[in-house]
Amino acid sequence: MTRMDEMASWGIVETASRIAAGEVSAEEVARATLARIEASNERLGAFVDVTAGELLEGARAVDQRRARGEAAGKLAGVPLGIKDALCTRGVTTTCGSKVLRHRGEPWRPPYDATAVARLKGEGALLAGKCNMDEFAMGSSTENSAYFPSKNPVDPSRTPGGSSGGSAVAVAGRMTPGALGSDTGGSVRQPAAYTGCVGVKPTHGRVSRFGLVAYASSLDVVGPMASDVRGAARLLDVIAGHDPRDSTSLEAPVPSHEEACGRGVRGLRVGVPEEYFAAGLAPEVAASVREAIGALEAQGAEVRPVQLPHTRHAVATYYVLATAEASSNLSRFDGVRFGLRVEPPGADLASMYGATRNEGFGPEVRRRILLGTYVLSHGYYEAYYLKAQQVRTLIRRDFLEVFSSVDLVATPTAPTAAFRLGEQIDDPLTMYLNDIYTLPASLAGLPALSVPVRPAPAAGATPALPVGLQLIGPALGEPVLFAAAAAVEAAGLR
Ligand code: GLN
Repeated sequence: MTRMDEMASWGIVETASRIAAGEVSAEEVARATLARIEASNERLGAFVDVTAGELLEGARAVDQRRARGEAAGKLAGVPLGIKDALCTRGVTTTCGSKVLRHRGEPWRPPYDATAVARLKGEGALLAGKCNMDEFAMGSSTENSAYFPSKNPVDPSRTPGGSSGGSAVAVAGRMTPGALGSDTGGSVRQPAAYTGCVGVKPTHGRVSRFGLVAYASSLDVVGPMASDVRGAARLLDVIAGHDPRDSTSLEAPVPSHEEACGRGVRGLRVGVPEEYFAAGLAPEVAASVREAIGALEAQGAEVRPVQLPHTRHAVATYYVLATAEASSNLSRFDGVRFGLRVEPPGADLASMYGATRNEGFGPEVRRRILLGTYVLSHGYYEAYYLKAQQVRTLIRRDFLEVFSSVDLVATPTAPTAAFRLGEQIDDPLTMYLNDIYTLPASLAGLPALSVPVRPAPAAGATPALPVGLQLIGPALGEPVLFAAAAAVEAAGLR
């Protein structure tokens, strides 16, 4: 193994501790990261902007602080990818859209998202902005205004979405970790498809300040990493109350990293039969059941549970998420941010129309239309209000289940990664990829995806990654990390 390959195999915790111990300099790590990106980004499409100068400069500053004997942060010198949906001061922030780009220039916000600022505060370094489906709407990154990202395991397949670029940065060993955002599965599903760890925290656990809004009652910033401990360390750093996000929770932040060592003896794991029904690929089911068996072998108690309203989750989500999106995206009007299209002689209304027509891609337009429709007079009660009521039923299902189990284990997605191009013309099929991730989003609960045994695929294709989803009660992230670490320790992949 070359020195560079060796560095690329380190997770977040290992990278940070080797830099802290002086075994490697932050600059060496940064150079290796840039070399990896250079070698594979064009082929895999992880990053829409690589911040090479900032990364090297930041790395040198970390090395200098270390040489002076100053205290280093928990992530000092660790390069990270950040989803293009999160504001990064002075750096490209386009949410995968043309609407945040004007005359060739991307929008560059004057501030960092809180999650990004907290990572930087612990010494983490920005490697670049990661590709995504436009406005986080999609499950394959094919809705990106830039290019689709490709799965490092098999580049003819999608890495999932919408945080696909973040997943590729991690699974393609360009950076040991990344941030994504998850509204209905956008961290968990790409983590499952590429074989990394992805965490959707409890809604409100991580500040949304500086996250470009899609559906605010569902949006959560979440870590992705090559291993469970790395994801835990990222969450430890980004979690906690932020006065700039009024929905952020005031609860104290426990050590998720420490929770990774707790073990699962006596943990009660519920397996909902609704998640193992028709539509689940048998090879995915087999890998997931084997992982649940591994938890049992380590002392967990596994029992069947029911989540009967699961079957309404897709319909409910696509009413509520589009309704919120239609309102949130009204701010992109050609006045305050990015693109402005002004046909000669245009009045204000036609400038708005021209800007939005040209700036938004087809999926975003579809969702704005759907969302506007379900909120409109005469349909509001039938669609939006009804969906809110069903959301309550879905939440109650979970409350009921968590009175008798500590966590719930399911597949993250019904299949392994599909081929690029295979579903893009069929929105309903695409939406069904989210069937297992949407319920936890609607209920606001924490959930993570951890890799289990890859599923054999037909033909010459290598085995494809599979994710086990663990869902917990509100603020139950520590239990999820304990169980995920146990699955990882079983060495199934
Ligand atoms: N795939 C889902 C959607 O298109 C979820 C996306 C997300 O979590 N941002 O809305």
